[in-house]
Amino acid sequence: MKIKLLDPLVAQRIAAGEVIERPASVIRELLDNALDAGSKSIVASVIEGGLEEIKVIDDGEGIEREDLPLLCESHATSKVRELDDLYHIKSMGFRGEALYSIASVSRITIASSFQGQEPYQITVDNGRKEAVLPGGPRTGTMVTVEGLFKELPARRQFLKRPSTEATMARAVLLEKALAFPDRAFRFISDQTVRVDLVPTTRKQRVLDVLLLNQNIVSSEMLELYDSAGRFDLYAVCSSPAFSRSDRSHIKIYVNNRPVDEYSLVQAVTYGYGELLAGGSFPYCYLFIDVDPTLVDFNIHPTKREVKLRNKAEIHHQVVSMIASQIKRTIPRLVKQELE
Ligand code: ADP
Ligand code: MG
Repeated sequence: MKIKLLDPLVAQRIAAGEVIERPASVIRELLDNALDAGSKSIVASVIEGGLEEIKVIDDGEGIEREDLPLLCESHATSKVRELDDLYHIKSMGFRGEALYSIASVSRITIASSFQGQEPYQITVDNGRKEAVLPGGPRTGTMVTVEGLFKELPARRQFLKRPSTEATMARAVLLEKALAFPDRAFRFISDQTVRVDLVPTTRKQRVLDVLLLNQNIVSSEMLELYDSAGRFDLYAVCSSPAFSRSDRSHIKIYVNNRPVDEYSLVQAVTYGYGELLAGGSFPYCYLFIDVDPTLVDFNIHPTKREVKLRNKAEIHHQVVSMIASQIKRTIPRLVKQELE
């Protein structure tokens, strides 16, 4: 017989490869969990770009002691019970695979206090579960991931230099922070605080993040709104006077998730139309809130792809919101420049 069942740990690690590619993927999943737990303040830190250690500390509701041994099992989730729940999803997570995947390719320790009770912790070392022990933070949850891919040298070889990995991890945190301006986010790399964002408005959060990236588009960022019943649009966009030569600052979020949806990036540029010179692009952070029954994120494990049932309608509305509202602001901008 040629066919054999894979050893469970081998199978687990193959599956993990789809979700966990590098330290930034770990950060993305741990931030999602912290956000789903209702945290107000989240600190992510890396040592050696996350190759040595990744830690995320939150002040969310915590995890019950009895749940600790289940966390790193496959398909273990508190967020979905039935298939139909997928179409009403409000949480970032729903696959119950993140901690399971991380636990199969690193040494992970999850320490948590459930609603202020005594803290407990569990460690899973490259798929090997250890006993639940007392100890941990007094509030919220602290997840520590050490030695990512240490037992998979072939995978570890694909990682970049620590400084590059740290930059990617920071970018993931900023991308999340844009969607949750009411929460505080910190990023620490090798003991140095690199990002410290306090809770604020949506517009100010965009400005704070742009500032961190040295893209200082200080004065004229405009806020646009539109509502069409089954979805709401909100955007922070640059006036046509501020443009750049690439699309890298057109970012689309659907229900707080950053998505790679080229047609909506195009909708933004169509909206600006003639106002921008050929080959130049605006800064635009577009947040689309859609009725969860009309979206499906269950396409790829990293959830960067989305199926939108009313995409054509949204596309149309984005173009018209930008076209009409940006044009309306132009007389005001010209006036300010003259003053
Ligand atoms: P998912 O997020 O898809 O449910 P995960 O593997 O990321 O799957 O997490 C499994 C479960 O562990 C979650 O459903 C949640 O109940 C719990 N959990 C994970 N991280 C946290 C956290 N930081 N705070 C509270 N609960 C958590
Ligand atoms: Mg999750």
